Amino acid sequence: PAHDDGLLAEWLDESMEAGACAAERGRVSTQIPALSEVASTHFGMAVATTDGQLVHAGDSARPFSIQSLSKLFALCALLEHDPRAWTHVGWNPTNAQFNSVAELERSGGRPANPFVNAGALVVTDLLLERSGDAVAATLDIVRRGAFGRPVVVDQDVAMAEMITDHRNSALAHVLAEHGRLKCEIERLLAQYCQQCAIAADVQTVAAASLFLADRATTSTDLAPATVRRINAVLLTSGMYGAAGDIAYRIGLPAKSGIGGGVVAVMPGRGTVCVWSPPLDSDGNSAGGVAAIERFAELAGWSVF
Ligand code: GLN
Repeated sequence: PAHDDGLLAEWLDESMEAGACAAERGRVSTQIPALSEVASTHFGMAVATTDGQLVHAGDSARPFSIQSLSKLFALCALLEHDPRAWTHVGWNPTNAQFNSVAELERSGGRPANPFVNAGALVVTDLLLERSGDAVAATLDIVRRGAFGRPVVVDQDVAMAEMITDHRNSALAHVLAEHGRLKCEIERLLAQYCQQCAIAADVQTVAAASLFLADRATTSTDLAPATVRRINAVLLTSGMYGAAGDIAYRIGLPAKSGIGGGVVAVMPGRGTVCVWSPPLDSDGNSAGGVAAIERFAELAGWSVF
């Protein structure tokens, strides 16, 4: 059914109010120095629908660091050309932290899923080997669905992560020890940090993710069965330790990043993206989750 855009705008406003309130209980990530300086009060929200609407409010034209949202786009870039990528990375959820080295060791060097850091490193490695430039391939996926909106790499954020990135470096070395990497570690880490440092606004991310909700969106060449699998893994692993909680409260496949971005998918209807920097204890945007929860309630969005 078509969405009434007046109604959508009203729902957006109400959801943003709920989100802004919840954001006060979160804390901006200090993991990457350049990101810890971002004002906690930024709040942007956008909804892209399968019937062609793009409704947005707040800081919706201000680019933010997409961080782990890039894991979704990198995976799509890889799966477009190599549907067998799942043989290198699992699809199961884990309760371990997204950057846990212990978890990777426990699994004999096979990452649990593509949305934890170890899994994303494997995805980026495969993409780098195949295309020679994983960052360009990931940017391309975002840009294809972005209606010409600006999508860039924030070199300050990339550099700040490169310098402080001991944990991803540790993960890469454990992967290499188990023979799971094809490219040189330093090159892989540089590409991974650049990919995480992609900056785009909520309108762009909502529009660029629409192919996950809409079979008619042709911004990727992914087969419908592949899109279903990506959504399944987003539902079970896109929000780290909170996946069960998000499925229970919201019921939508979703992906978050430490920059405070979160995007959720309602198959057949649309996508919703929120940017609000303060994170909850699971590492997800506190305001983003609350705003999407309220929006899903108002719009009747749930895969269940
Ligand atoms: N660049 C961050 C990292 O690799 C991304 C983490 C995230 O957004 N959850 O740790």
